[in-house]
Amino acid sequence: MATESGSTVSGTPVPGSARPGAARASGESVLALKRRARRINRELAEQYPYAHAELDFRSPFELVIATVLSAQTTDVLVNQITPLLFARYPDARQMAEADPAELEAIIKPTGFFRAKARNLLALCTRLVDEYDGEVPGRLADLVTLPGVGRKTANVVLGNAFGIPGITVDTHFGRLARRLGWTESDDPVRIESDVAALFEPKDWTMLSHRVVFHGRRVCHSRKPACGACAVANWCPSYGMGETDPEKAKKLLKYELAPGQEALLARLLAETHRAAEIRMESQRKQP
Ligand code: SF4
Repeated sequence: MATESGSTVSGTPVPGSARPGAARASGESVLALKRRARRINRELAEQYPYAHAELDFRSPFELVIATVLSAQTTDVLVNQITPLLFARYPDARQMAEADPAELEAIIKPTGFFRAKARNLLALCTRLVDEYDGEVPGRLADLVTLPGVGRKTANVVLGNAFGIPGITVDTHFGRLARRLGWTESDDPVRIESDVAALFEPKDWTMLSHRVVFHGRRVCHSRKPACGACAVANWCPSYGMGETDPEKAKKLLKYELAPGQEALLARLLAETHRAAEIRMESQRKQP
């Protein structure tokens, strides 16, 4: 199987091996693949006990709006504008009646603001007309809403309704391929390949952990393999920097060099992680 690095891997995994890169993907039995995938999930759970949705929200309405806004931009940026947005339009009824120019001005920093404003107005109008202003809690309904695809629907179901869902964004897709959980580029196929490896109860948290790992360690261009907690079980080990000292310098956010105090706070106060993360992001230039 060709990995993203273009290398070919074969053989069977060696769970628990101390030698990074010993795990292989191709030729692996389904049972071995499941065991390896679940081992990776456990390691990620230890590394990121504070993982959660990175978008801030207090209701299904706020989460669906924030997720629509997060297209083509960062969650950090969306979190900076949503307090003002939801203070101005606290529910679907009020947002459906928003003055488009005013709505556009508030969401402008997130980019593609004209299209996003149109989507938000259409989305809120549908919510008011067909769902009494509430966000529906079913995938089949959610994906019919303007601006809401399968990814957004799964984010909303998993995080606002507690219904298990796998959220395939660019980070998740990249890591699922690198970890040998799928060979596909198609989000729906990736979702079903990964879903087959885990219990539904693990889907939502797995999605957060994998995305956290993609943002902090397993970067698109320069993965920090030498500082990666799941290197022992990753068939793509070696596609990035393997020197531990050099790899550490590639880590981001709370894992970045110099952020030890922030990491310690997140670990000590996992229940307050979202608050601490927001504070630290506000301080960043
Ligand atoms: S950083 Fe390297 S070892 Fe870790 S998951 Fe990514 S490709 Fe695999």
